[in-house]
Amino acid sequence: FAALQATDPEIAEIVLAELDRQRTGLQLIASENLTSPAVLAALGSTLSNKYAEGYPGRRYYGGCAQVDRAEELAVARARALFGAEHANVQPYSGASANLAAYAAFCQPGDRVLAMDLKQGGHLTHGSRANFSGRWFQAISYPVRPDDELIDYDQIRDLAITYEPRMIIAGATAYPRLIDFPAFREIADEIGAVLMVDAAHFIGLVAAGVIPSPVPHADVVTLTTHKVLRGPRGGMILSRAEHAKALDKAVFPFTQGGPLMHAVAAKAVALKEAATPGFAVYANQVVANARALSQDLAAAGLRPVSGGTDTHLALLDLRPIGVTGAEAESRCEAAHITLNKNAIPYDPEPPMVSSGIRVGSPYVTTQGMTEAEMSVIARLIARAVRAERGTVRGDAELAAVTGEVAELVAQHPAYPERRK
Ligand code: PLP
Repeated sequence: FAALQATDPEIAEIVLAELDRQRTGLQLIASENLTSPAVLAALGSTLSNKYAEGYPGRRYYGGCAQVDRAEELAVARARALFGAEHANVQPYSGASANLAAYAAFCQPGDRVLAMDLKQGGHLTHGSRANFSGRWFQAISYPVRPDDELIDYDQIRDLAITYEPRMIIAGATAYPRLIDFPAFREIADEIGAVLMVDAAHFIGLVAAGVIPSPVPHADVVTLTTHKVLRGPRGGMILSRAEHAKALDKAVFPFTQGGPLMHAVAAKAVALKEAATPGFAVYANQVVANARALSQDLAAAGLRPVSGGTDTHLALLDLRPIGVTGAEAESRCEAAHITLNKNAIPYDPEPPMVSSGIRVGSPYVTTQGMTEAEMSVIARLIARAVRAERGTVRGDAELAAVTGEVAELVAQHPAYPERRK
């Protein structure tokens, strides 16, 4: 870090300021986590210098002996942890992994059935703003209006009507478990490929806390930086029969040289995720999300689908007459970082939205448990009701900020502050 400070004090200052932001606030974005110093060390290593197009033992560059070892370890650990016949650890991100999965199984113009973005799906599940909706014919499935759960009968009906080439299970803002055998049955009925986008919850799968999609899907895509607590990146798991097509879809079809520092960091995270300590962590992540959801419900916010089985909860703010955008900005003013989120059948446009999404991965890594969740719920409930720009509202936000600082000081994000 001293080298960075000497060469580029502006960037060094930003790095420290971001560390400070993470340490002095509550990080409740469901897709974020706090990586270990070991993962950060691999990310900041000389492996970043190396070009390694291709795969271990079949590279287009010389000098790959060491990075080959890192990638082989990452692949072996991923296969062992998830019980997968094949793993590709090169995708730059979750979106890159999804692009490669489409490329391996679909042709432009093919029909793909996936969860509506507005109902909790991801941009790569058929949004017109994304390659997936521009190059493929996307058919969306919603959640049921009454209980806000996935309606497998409706998905089956849509599958039979439209005969999509690929069906995607998985979401960005769905707090409940997904029935992978039910998706498998539907896919088999029409001969479709089943892709599970496990980006959000794969860390819970790694720990055995929720059921695994791996035995049921043709391809599982994931991100390594959410509950799994690794570096920012993506990964693909599959049965051996699809290995060649997926590997070619990642490189050379959609990517160039792999980020070998990130591949090494993925290996580190996978090793960490295989420990008993990680299983304890993942169990606590779910317990914390559940507690947070219940405590927020007690404070007047409505949990979408009635609660959560995972690491995240989606809260409808209409009962308290606040929009998602207002809530996000009020919380941010109080050093509580979360995101506004559309709720199913949201009457508001996405940039406003009626909900917020909260997640427990980061604060659980900090060592917080159910007791802290009830404190956090009360702080959120106060912040979202505090109108910015009014004397009372600003005073309340200042008071909440102080209590946030007290809480996080007891659970520092990184124990030692770097100078
Ligand atoms: N898939 C799902 C379900 C996601 O939630 C996300 C990101 O939040 C992605 C894919 C994309 O991951 P990335 O941001 O790494 O491209």
